[in-house]
Amino acid sequence: MRNLEQITGQRLSHYINGQWHEPSNGEYFDSLDPTNAQPWYKVASGDAQDIEDAVSAARAALKNPQWQRMSQTDRGHMVRRLAQLIDENREMLARIETRDNGKLLRETRAQTTIVPDTFSYFAGAADKLEGTTIPLNKPDMLNYTVREPIGVVGIIVPWNSPLYQLAWTLAPCLAIGNTVVIKPSEHTSASTLALMDLVEQAGFPPGVVNVVTGFGPVAGEALTRHPHIAKIAFTGSSETGKRVAANAASHLAQCNMELGGKSPHCVFDDADLDRAANGVVAGIFAAAGQTCVAGSRIFVQESVYDAFLDKLLTRTRQIKLGDPTEEGVQVGPLAIREQLEKVTRYVEIAKAEGATLLSGGKPPEDPALSEGWYFEPTLFTDVDNSMRIAQEEVFGPVGCVIRFSTEEELTELANATEYGLAAGVWTQSMERGLRFAREVESGIVWVNTYRAASFATPVGGFKNSGYGSHNGLESLREYSRSKSVMLDYSGKAQDPFVIRVKE
Ligand code: NAD
Repeated sequence: MRNLEQITGQRLSHYINGQWHEPSNGEYFDSLDPTNAQPWYKVASGDAQDIEDAVSAARAALKNPQWQRMSQTDRGHMVRRLAQLIDENREMLARIETRDNGKLLRETRAQTTIVPDTFSYFAGAADKLEGTTIPLNKPDMLNYTVREPIGVVGIIVPWNSPLYQLAWTLAPCLAIGNTVVIKPSEHTSASTLALMDLVEQAGFPPGVVNVVTGFGPVAGEALTRHPHIAKIAFTGSSETGKRVAANAASHLAQCNMELGGKSPHCVFDDADLDRAANGVVAGIFAAAGQTCVAGSRIFVQESVYDAFLDKLLTRTRQIKLGDPTEEGVQVGPLAIREQLEKVTRYVEIAKAEGATLLSGGKPPEDPALSEGWYFEPTLFTDVDNSMRIAQEEVFGPVGCVIRFSTEEELTELANATEYGLAAGVWTQSMERGLRFAREVESGIVWVNTYRAASFATPVGGFKNSGYGSHNGLESLREYSRSKSVMLDYSGKAQDPFVIRVKE
């Protein structure tokens, strides 16, 4: 697999039909390093022609007997081989991702440990996707179902955790026997392209996995509009998701939508406040707040409000910002310049709305960080849940603290959002925790923990956070379809003009 040096300054092409493929328009653009805003490598700017080539290759691969007729067990072996190769190369994959999106190396290392486990998990499931036999009220009639691949799946991924988010779709897709066209984020294509070196080594037939890089409104749009795409697995913002879903609807492609969030993170008066403060810091400042599950609305019960805020503020002010590859650094830069601009804009919006800036709110003063897209961990108080800062996804290190008094009020406030991705609650009362988990409208609920995840845990958003789910055995249903087979073994000629309803 290629390494950092082999990427630096290079032009990276698409990967189509098992070959490195120059963009049809000959255009490349710079991918920038978030620690210094300097160009790192050049990415092929894909367009409709490249998407056409990739979808054609993926369609042909679906019918290639080497893939179509491969036994489920052998397919599982192949996916497991890919898992093994990823595991052997995980340190380099982590370094590539950190260089591309500025996420802490410690975190990309953790993620690239989960990625091979995700592939292994679905490799094991490849030959366990069973159909059913259906008891009918008709004698001499056998009815069984089989689950088969959907077809060509288009996978569109954002920049915050490229391989981790790709794995939760790519692994089940391959285990089931689909073929795919991946469109990574224009900001973070390097790790996905490096992964193709491993896909090739693992022995996947040409065309089973294809990558077209480039901009969303061009390459992404062409992918979602392509009539031969059977399903779009989209991870990204709700705004783009709506557009993608509309495009997919124009040719009746299915969708799996993993979208944005504005998650409530709640602290009751009976919580262990130290653990809760750590959890809340992790929820909003880990990965510089650039996670879909960021606990950006921090609800604190009135009676512990001051005590909790004190702990939260102390921890927030201690956060060490810096180069994401350095030991001891806790928060790196924002991944892209647009994100820095967006976070800055929202800080101004919050101030204008009357929220009180308690901490942060600007780039750090340290001259060593002045070239990168760094932003101080930021807390607002005196926030009302109806303000824009409490309703709109910032996708950065900005938390707003909101008081509540009763459990009923909390549930109402927590659910008063267009999103429904994640929620967290800190309490020592099991009853309270379980009641909150039942009442809150979100795809995942954490009690006395936050950001815990597993490839075995199915998660999907509610409301504007999307539909469908990723991870867990449920994914096998997301990327397969059911076929019903009916067989008459009566040996009798039937009345050709009457459906056999009942004997
Ligand atoms: P984005 O919506 O701008 O882009 C996501 C992907 O869509 C990129 O690859 C982009 O090129 C592509 N795209 C953009 N316009 C497109 C179009 N018209 N047609 C097709 N594709 C298009 O999101 P982003 O800024 O890259 O990522 C941040 C967002 O992703 C946040 O809202 C975050 O909450 C969300 N997210 C959700 C999850 C989840 O599991 N629910 C996980 C991670 C990120």
